Amino acid sequence: METHLAEWLQGTRDGEAAEAILRGCVHCGFCTATCPTYQLLGDELDSPRGRIYLIKQVVEGLKPTATTQLHLDRCLTCRNCETTCPSGVEYGRLIDIGRRLVDAQVERPVAQRVVRGLLQETLTRRWLFDPAMRIGQAVRMVLPDGLKAKVPERRSAGAWPRVVARGDGNSRQVFLLNGCVQPAMMPSIDSATARVLAAVGVGVSYAQESGCCGAIRHHLDDPAGALEDARRNVDAWFPALEMQAVEAIVINTSGCGAMVKEYGHLLADDPAYADRAKRVSASVRDLGEFLTPEVDRLGAALRAAQSSRSEAKEPEASRAAGTTGRALQRVAFHPPCTLQHGQKLGGVVEALLEPLLRQAGAQRVPFAESHLCCGSAGTYSVLQPELSTRLRDRKLANIDISRPDLILSANIGCITHLQNGTVTPVRHWVEWLDGALSP
Ligand code: SF4
Ligand code: SF4
Repeated sequence: METHLAEWLQGTRDGEAAEAILRGCVHCGFCTATCPTYQLLGDELDSPRGRIYLIKQVVEGLKPTATTQLHLDRCLTCRNCETTCPSGVEYGRLIDIGRRLVDAQVERPVAQRVVRGLLQETLTRRWLFDPAMRIGQAVRMVLPDGLKAKVPERRSAGAWPRVVARGDGNSRQVFLLNGCVQPAMMPSIDSATARVLAAVGVGVSYAQESGCCGAIRHHLDDPAGALEDARRNVDAWFPALEMQAVEAIVINTSGCGAMVKEYGHLLADDPAYADRAKRVSASVRDLGEFLTPEVDRLGAALRAAQSSRSEAKEPEASRAAGTTGRALQRVAFHPPCTLQHGQKLGGVVEALLEPLLRQAGAQRVPFAESHLCCGSAGTYSVLQPELSTRLRDRKLANIDISRPDLILSANIGCITHLQNGTVTPVRHWVEWLDGALSP
């Protein structure tokens, strides 16, 4: 698509990047078929092609309006359109640029500014969010429904394995992202990750000073704040990577993984950070990606746990369920968009889990529209609650047809969001695996 950049954008990084991306779009519209908001609303301006057109108008100098902003806001940034696009249009990068340019020219109403500011300032500060979440979980039973939906029940995290300690000799070592929201909402996910990694001889630690990946600020009109988060994490991780004291940054929340894999791109123009950020991004592994070569060792660990349980005469099926106390036979895996479209790791976790589930006497059940977003999308469920709930209910209706005993996923946002709409337990897949590996 030919684009004539407005004079004020010529020679700028955003202008040149937008022009290059727009050039690739041939306006074929294939992407509309897999866009969740277009599926729901049927409005071209709520499709990738329509949004691309809106952004083209902005970079060509047309003044954006609140309506332009609304159509960009309604985008989930799920990047399903990227997966579908035959021309390889980098829509995710284009929408980031479009939002930056529109938000700089269209002031939001006060109420929106307040909500966005609160989300930015509370979710990303552990010292604030952790105690608030603990209090919320303690009084969850009496919270109003709307608030209760944002506060998951607290589950025991269990002990971290001994091999976690750094410098413990010969073990392989990785850093785990010390994120903002997940450790407070579901600390069981990180401890389960540490135990599963220990089962294959890998020690885990958090790098001091590391923290929020920056995705929340990045998606809430605060690109400078997001870059500060990225720089802090690069500073925290790089020395150990350079000394080969750790082999990877393992991330068990696919939204954060997608963000950290972008550090190299986001900091490319910062001479003090560009090279180190690139190295950090190249060292990031989604947990499923990291464990894929270890599938045989996980199978052996599972056999050992099963044999120890059978000696103790513990019923295998209920133990493997770990959540319901009834036999676990049918398991659905919901692949987050940030995993399948953002990190392009569609099928990786499924391939890892399938033999392990079979070994545990269960099976993964397929369901329709697994490529579509569940509506969680970071803070989207707060900012666009109606669309978000419709997408969640559509996702759960598709999953329910397969009658799963357990729904697994790979992102804290999807897990919490889906759980709010179903009585079927929804867990991170590593929690299931950890339960199955426990002797
Ligand atoms: S599928 Fe790709 S090339 Fe076609 S309209 Fe969508 S973004 Fe443009
Ligand atoms: S990122 Fe998702 S919601 Fe946004 S245009 Fe692409 S497919 Fe549609």
